[in-house]
Amino acid sequence: MTTIRIVFLGTSAAVPQKNRFLSGLALQREKGEILLFDCGEGTQYQIMKYKVNFQKISKIFLSHLHGDHLYGIFGLLSTMKLADRSNPLKIYGPPGTKQYLKRFYGEKIENGFSYPIGIFDTEEGFVCEDEDYQIVAKRTMHSIYTLAYAYIEKDRLGHFDTKKAQELKVKKGSKWQQLQKGKSVLSEDNKVILPEMVLGPKRRGFKIVIGSDGTYQEEDFVPFAMGADVLVLEATFSDINESKAKEKLHSTSRWSAIIARKAKVKKLFLTHISPRTEEEENLKNEAQEEFPSAVIAYDGLEIHLNRKDLESE
Ligand SMILES: [Zn+2]
Ligand SMILES: [Zn+2]
Repeated sequence: MTTIRIVFLGTSAAVPQKNRFLSGLALQREKGEILLFDCGEGTQYQIMKYKVNFQKISKIFLSHLHGDHLYGIFGLLSTMKLADRSNPLKIYGPPGTKQYLKRFYGEKIENGFSYPIGIFDTEEGFVCEDEDYQIVAKRTMHSIYTLAYAYIEKDRLGHFDTKKAQELKVKKGSKWQQLQKGKSVLSEDNKVILPEMVLGPKRRGFKIVIGSDGTYQEEDFVPFAMGADVLVLEATFSDINESKAKEKLHSTSRWSAIIARKAKVKKLFLTHISPRTEEEENLKNEAQEEFPSAVIAYDGLEIHLNRKDLESE
């Protein structure tokens, strides 16, 4: 069963292309909640096309305030309202996000919709957390303040050993459920049974790192992305345009692939692909020289992660 579904909604750099919309990526969790990373123009069309339930989007994370990463938010917020959304929506973005949106909507934005909107100007470091995951941000080097985000699941309790629970005389039913939630119970012979007596070792969760525009500084981006199950980075240029990547503070596919290799990630997807189509084959080949399984993302590409894959590690 799929635990996490990642959908690339847009993979183009700067301007839309016939087959590539602008930046957007949906991360759907097993409980149904959807986190949206960037919201380029046309994101809501892609959401419909690729069957992402926009009413389940709980949080939007904007990497930076360049138009190709956020012009889609205006249409999306309106559609949510017209569809009578009532669930709250949180929008996280770099410093200046709140002011930017207020300039468009006016002061009333946070309660001027059918649903409450929270806007949070975010700097690098801890961003937010939920019961079982947290989001952490890291700055990239770009022409304006830009954040990459890491979705990091908290460790989960180990497997419940039913045989052991029976041996320790714990009555099946609500007491088993409490132990599975990490709570201590009393056995039928009145002994205190601690969860660690019947649970296996803790299980790690998934780590997914979504970089946006910019150059990634090896010395601090590699530790940030270390061991990720999925890493998404930009690849605006190929080797022949390396000097342009430096000048415009973007990355080449090779630079991004080197980060992936050094951070020992499991999967690398490259996005923010330029309309200079003659370069696309180079992007792939140069990335694969550094990280052989690197994939150039395309609109509609889906990644499915299963909890079972972690358990077989
Ligand atoms: Zn961009
Ligand atoms: Zn940018």
